[in-house]
Amino acid sequence: MTGRTHDLAAITLLGTVAVLTPLPSMTLSTVLIAILANQIGGIVPDIDQPVAPFWRNLPVGGFVGKVITRMMGGHRFLTHSIIGAGLLCFLALQFLLFIHPLMPNINTTIVWYAFVIGVLSHLIMDSFTKEGVPWLLPIPIKFGIPPIRRLRITTGKWGETLGVWPILILADIALCASQYQTILALIHTHIH
Ligand SMILES: [Zn+2]
Repeated sequence: MTGRTHDLAAITLLGTVAVLTPLPSMTLSTVLIAILANQIGGIVPDIDQPVAPFWRNLPVGGFVGKVITRMMGGHRFLTHSIIGAGLLCFLALQFLLFIHPLMPNINTTIVWYAFVIGVLSHLIMDSFTKEGVPWLLPIPIKFGIPPIRRLRITTGKWGETLGVWPILILADIALCASQYQTILALIHTHIH
């Protein structure tokens, strides 16, 4: 999937979890940083791809991206498995705990959950593509939805642009429309 689809999928899953689970009160800064963490989590598994948006946006990203790709065993490998994603989330948590003294108003747990949701959405979305995802590494099998490879979509082609993207937009609209009262209540009572 392209970076733009991953961004949208990450925020869609975050919004869905936010309206379906009971949330604690949080500061507005927590909400904003959590959305940022969610968006980073949504594209971070593609650090194993030198041309990924994650690297394109950094000054020496092209070079660093190539080195990291080698280290990660190539595209759609370690970072696209439960073990690799778990490792990314563990590193993100260590980073958040490290910088927590700099931003005491931020609820680190919420920000971390938003990051994890982003990473999870990435693996789910890539499962819909022809390449599939090696969820269970070191078992070297790539899984896809649906299991028949021919029925899955090709990254960046019409299936993604005309199928996946509009479905995600519609899901967001449906979520906002059906959960409007819940969202309003969340903003009024949970954010301070
Ligand atoms: Zn990916």
